[in-house]
Amino acid sequence: MIRENLASVEHRICAACERSGRDRRDVRLIAVSKTKPVPMLMEAYDEGIREFGENKPQEIREKYPELPSDIRWHMIGHLQRNKIKYIIDKVCMIHSVDSLRLAEAIDAEAKKHGVTMPVLIEVNVAGEESKDGVSPEETEELIRQVSCLEHIRVNGLMTIAPFTENAEDNRQYFKILKNLSVDIAGKNIDNVNMCELSMGMTGDYEVAIEEGATMVRVGTGIFGERFYSH
Ligand SMILES: *Cc1c(COP(=O)(O)O)cnc(C)c1O
Repeated sequence: MIRENLASVEHRICAACERSGRDRRDVRLIAVSKTKPVPMLMEAYDEGIREFGENKPQEIREKYPELPSDIRWHMIGHLQRNKIKYIIDKVCMIHSVDSLRLAEAIDAEAKKHGVTMPVLIEVNVAGEESKDGVSPEETEELIRQVSCLEHIRVNGLMTIAPFTENAEDNRQYFKILKNLSVDIAGKNIDNVNMCELSMGMTGDYEVAIEEGATMVRVGTGIFGERFYSH
């Protein structure tokens, strides 16, 4: 199943690139493997997937030693400051920075481990109550503050668009994120490189690519539905 799903996702990514005149190599597929067991990740790995996204530090911590070391792990979910220490030496990027306090805590852990952590600033573009992320209006100011931290590097923006049946509904939000990214890039803030746009999930990644996503985070479309036990 994973093999077929990946082939289908790959096909759709290529089609979206073609429609928007983009190079397939400028879009990275992150396989979101949260709640899924190691053998399923291994199946995706055997199909060539090397970038995996997880939203819980504990899950990264458990899966990390079980899987090949050339995997690049992305922390894509809400991160509590006291959990940073579990992932600082395991992930290649943190997509979910939405406060100076969190950035400072990441900076401190990164310093301890002698690394510089690439991060994205999470923007709540649609202004949904239930979602993390800064507002578009607050984004530049937060980036200016985070850019002063020595062991973090801002690499761009991330958003989680609203859940919808119709991907076209989210095009407006992807456009806003892209425009915001271009605006901020134009300010030439030291230490800031607005090269990444992490946007698009199973329901809307094709539209996100058409609007400039450089990373799409696809879970269900690769691994199938998630079942949570309560
Ligand atoms: C779960 C999750 C995804 C993937 O969602 P799907 O709809 O299953 O593709 C992407 N991004 C974040 C931040 C997530 O938590």
